[in-house]
Amino acid sequence: MHPLDPLLRNNRAWSEKIRQENPDFFPTLSRQQAPTYLWIGCSDSRVPANEICGLLPGEVFVHRNVANIVVHSDLNCLSVMQYAVDVLKVAHIIVCGHYGCGGVRATLLEQKFGLIDNWLRHVQDVMNKHRPHLTCIADSAARVDRLCEFNVIDQTISAAQTTIVQSAWERGQPLALHGWCYGLDDGLVRQIGIDISSPDELKQAIATDWEKNTISLYEPEASP
Ligand SMILES: [Zn+2]
Repeated sequence: MHPLDPLLRNNRAWSEKIRQENPDFFPTLSRQQAPTYLWIGCSDSRVPANEICGLLPGEVFVHRNVANIVVHSDLNCLSVMQYAVDVLKVAHIIVCGHYGCGGVRATLLEQKFGLIDNWLRHVQDVMNKHRPHLTCIADSAARVDRLCEFNVIDQTISAAQTTIVQSAWERGQPLALHGWCYGLDDGLVRQIGIDISSPDELKQAIATDWEKNTISLYEPEASP
């Protein structure tokens, strides 16, 4: 048996099940896609966008990279965003990190893995902004999780600052950005308090002290 045989068997069973439930599903979908959401998430195999949100093929446009980073020189991420916003006209961009993120942990522990260390420099920038706050968190896993939250906030703001989102708002296209953090241990998404749907809300998000205003897993008393 080929190692990939189980995957192909699963695929045939999945396709059969969907066609039995809705014979028009694949023919309709093959003609067009009209997703409402763009998901920018971590590549981690435990954080699949469709499954987490109970969405079918065609309902969410997806970009994933290590540590769900949005940088203005990443043509891959920007191209996905541009197509999603300008052509597909998604109404929501969800930047979803996850607690216990390996990329975030590697940054905090200053681990070296090779080429990827360069990519994770972007998380290091986030860490440096919050170093005194993070140093005060005694538990190392909690420190990683807190940086996961700060990273989502920075990447959501970064996404909102792209020319793609700015241009969409300028022409009056409704577009909202949301920062989420997913829990690997309970499968639940947490809204961490950052939602941006206009230039004014972006200004407000940039001015916010997120060390005090995140709806954090670790500081439930804090509120936005
Ligand atoms: Zn991750």
